[in-house]
Amino acid sequence: MTQVKVIIAGPRGRMGKEAVQLVQSTENYELVAAIDYKHDGKELHDIEGFETIHIPVYGEIEKCLAEIKADVLIDLTTPEMGMHHTKTAMLHGVRPVVGTTGFTQENLLELERLCQEKEIGCIIAPNFAIGAVLMMKFAQLAGKYFNDVEIIELHHDQKLDAPSGTAVKTAQMIAEVREQKKQGHPNEKETIAGARGADFDGMHIHSVRLPGLIAHQQVMFGSEGQTLTIRHDSYNRASFMSGVKLAVDTVMNIDSFVYGLENIID
Ligand code: NAP
Repeated sequence: MTQVKVIIAGPRGRMGKEAVQLVQSTENYELVAAIDYKHDGKELHDIEGFETIHIPVYGEIEKCLAEIKADVLIDLTTPEMGMHHTKTAMLHGVRPVVGTTGFTQENLLELERLCQEKEIGCIIAPNFAIGAVLMMKFAQLAGKYFNDVEIIELHHDQKLDAPSGTAVKTAQMIAEVREQKKQGHPNEKETIAGARGADFDGMHIHSVRLPGLIAHQQVMFGSEGQTLTIRHDSYNRASFMSGVKLAVDTVMNIDSFVYGLENIID
């Protein structure tokens, strides 16, 4: 089995902690460095929760990649830093696996162009939960038969971006097959701004933020006399890790850009 040398950006974060555990517990993965802007120059074992892990921590990716040889960068930070880390990794021949959400369409196009130019694998997955990917695929299938759909995404209240990357991706996938329609009554009026949620190609996306939630999404379809509800719930962040592993294994064997885990599961 090929040994895969991994760098994790954002190791103290909720996702980052799980990713550190995943890499540490996977036989052919080796955690070689971490990127954490608050702990430049330290070792990971200096940071609470990682007492047994002896790898260097860098505040900046440039210095990290100049000193450390790696195959894959797993990024679980913020959209702005994630964009910078992903570009820099590709420029250094390191394959990015990005879970960070909140990239714009322009960001994605820029990354795709760089990926093609460098001919290096890059996987960006707004949702690593296999169940969530299936929920998106099932919703796309239903979108062929139902023109009316509302997406309700529910997340913890520390989430920075709204709507979620998964909700936008779901809407894009449905839009590929759904007959275009502006939903609701043609004369409907919001008496409180935002009451009908965000408009994506005539579909509505509603974002709920509450403490206690992790990551959940419900896609509701309606037509004459019937509704169909497809729902996925992630109850903890470990639910994302089998998808991260799939992405790391896959990115080692491709030289193209992949946006969405649905493109690498059968
Ligand atoms: P989180 O707990 O806030 O973690 C983000 C971490 O990134 C924090 O530790 C933060 O440090 C750190 N960070 C910020 N700037 C950094 C930089 N320049 N260098 C290194 N680290 C930096 O958030 P999370 O829940 O783990 O989520 C992380 C990202 O993954 C978000 O974009 C989220 O939407 C996304 N996410 C994706 C999936 C998926 O399946 N793809 C699932 C869940 C979440 P400080 O807090 O000290 O600033």
